[in-house]
Amino acid sequence: MAIPMTAEQLLAALRAEGVRVQEHSGWRTHNRNHVGAWGPVHGVMIHHTVTSGTDASVRICRDGYSTLPGPLCHGVIAKDGVVHLIGYGRTNHAGAGDGDVLRAVIRETSLPSPNEADTDGNARYYGWECVNLGDGKDPWPAAQLGAIERVSAAICRAHGWNQRSVIGHKEWQPGKIDPRGFTMAAMRARIAERLALAATYTVGRGDTLWSIAASKLGDGNRWQEISRLNGMKGTAITPGQTLKIPKK
Ligand SMILES: [Zn+2]
Repeated sequence: MAIPMTAEQLLAALRAEGVRVQEHSGWRTHNRNHVGAWGPVHGVMIHHTVTSGTDASVRICRDGYSTLPGPLCHGVIAKDGVVHLIGYGRTNHAGAGDGDVLRAVIRETSLPSPNEADTDGNARYYGWECVNLGDGKDPWPAAQLGAIERVSAAICRAHGWNQRSVIGHKEWQPGKIDPRGFTMAAMRARIAERLALAATYTVGRGDTLWSIAASKLGDGNRWQEISRLNGMKGTAITPGQTLKIPKK
């Protein structure tokens, strides 16, 4: 069980993972929190938009339709790999899905195929819409797939989850086909590989190696691992400097 990140924490996590982010006005408070729960969160859900063009896709996902009000996700992942933040909180992306799938995501075990729609997913998953027609022909550029990998890894890293916490809409709700054009198994393998890599951290004012080790690794005494990983001779660090942080 995890409390959702704040909008600021999400933004920082995405940037730390190297995601190219574009913020759209009001995204931090554009949500559906007035109609239901947001959190606890258990995973990340990937979708395709069935639209083309970044601007039109962003607009539809932000505003929604008369029958399905926006936001329809937290962010839109464009074909050029830029991630457009449009909403934060409860959003209309997941709908009702299979509670057995949610239990598997929580345990991070293999997924059963969804055969019922008995559980509210909008409260439980961070949702990302990827610009694609979903016809099996519209290409998925490398930059876009890379952004899906980074966004997912950023959220998993922040919550201490592994790649099994990332699912496709079609793995959640019976009858859904998204995302189509790559396999979630392949995407999860990429996310696992990325999560095994060290994270990076930008030194802030007042930080010491000890304080960074305490906050990032849970133990200040592990400061020497950071020192070693970065090939440092002494302990001097300066604000703005980027440090590699070992895996927790
Ligand atoms: Zn979907």
